[in-house]
Amino acid sequence: MPLLQIENLRKSFRTSSTLGGSGARLVAVNDVSFTLEQGETLGLVGESGCGKSTTGKLIMQLQKADQGRVLFNDTDLTTLSARQMRPFRRQIQMIFQDPFSSLNPRMTVSSILSEPLIIHKLVPARQIRDRVIELLEKVGLTAEHEQRYSHEFSGGQRQRIGIARALAVEPQLIIADEPVSALDLSVQAQILNLLQELQQQHNLSYLFIAHDLAVIEHVSDRIAVMYLGNIVELTDAETLYKNPRHPYTEALLNAVPVADPDHPRPAPLSGEIPSPVNPPSGCYFHPRCPYADQLCREHSPPLTDSGDKHLVACHHSEQVGQYLIRRR
Ligand code: SF4
Repeated sequence: MPLLQIENLRKSFRTSSTLGGSGARLVAVNDVSFTLEQGETLGLVGESGCGKSTTGKLIMQLQKADQGRVLFNDTDLTTLSARQMRPFRRQIQMIFQDPFSSLNPRMTVSSILSEPLIIHKLVPARQIRDRVIELLEKVGLTAEHEQRYSHEFSGGQRQRIGIARALAVEPQLIIADEPVSALDLSVQAQILNLLQELQQQHNLSYLFIAHDLAVIEHVSDRIAVMYLGNIVELTDAETLYKNPRHPYTEALLNAVPVADPDHPRPAPLSGEIPSPVNPPSGCYFHPRCPYADQLCREHSPPLTDSGDKHLVACHHSEQVGQYLIRRR
């Protein structure tokens, strides 16, 4: 049984007049399904507005899905009341892109980390300080940091505090929403390494949300690529990087910078993301796709297994790779 099983999740919103007319309906997440095993990392990647963060919020039940199921350890979270959901809130934690906005500036690090321990009655009062120091050390900080406020830390250190707070409640699943996007490259690597170490120590599962494939390459076991609310490709990370079968994945891979002076320059994705209020006919990617033909303009391709659990939504997946800038 997977730790997390998402089935046919769908979420739409009514938009304001600035987004295609008053009352227009925007489908943010459209029939999304995937599973996540204990100890596994699933990367969820796509340009901004593709529905990946909404998917994270639907799993956390921060937003309610219009339809579909979110099975966590075989319990459907979409059917639970706020009270029934409480124990699951402990088991599913979120790490955000901007740790500064998610850390209370009036609380010391000690208070930030003590709070969940007290609320969930996880350790006796006399052991709280020891546990706070243990959490700080787990994320590469020290006891010296416990009486400081979040504004006294660098971006990387604040993200470490955010990770410690998530760990405090001993979760099984962490949804990491762009956790390193706001950090310098060298700090990104440190945080990614830390997340991997913690995963091994605690057998954590991660849903790792990112807007490009560069960040998640080394942390993901499998990767799901989202475009305009739909998963368009899902497979293991190695296969996705070596043998993408969807033109959008191919374009995302070509946009990844490579640290090799002889490698061709990264190619930015061409064309604008279509409005989700008024998406294109047929395959949503056809206005930006170099392989598109009449079939694509008229018929939406279903997500199907093209072999070895490699799921792709493309009429011409066998042609994909012609434009891929191969990495050495
Ligand atoms: Fe491109 Fe057609 Fe595949 Fe869509 S179905 S990604 S337009 S080739």
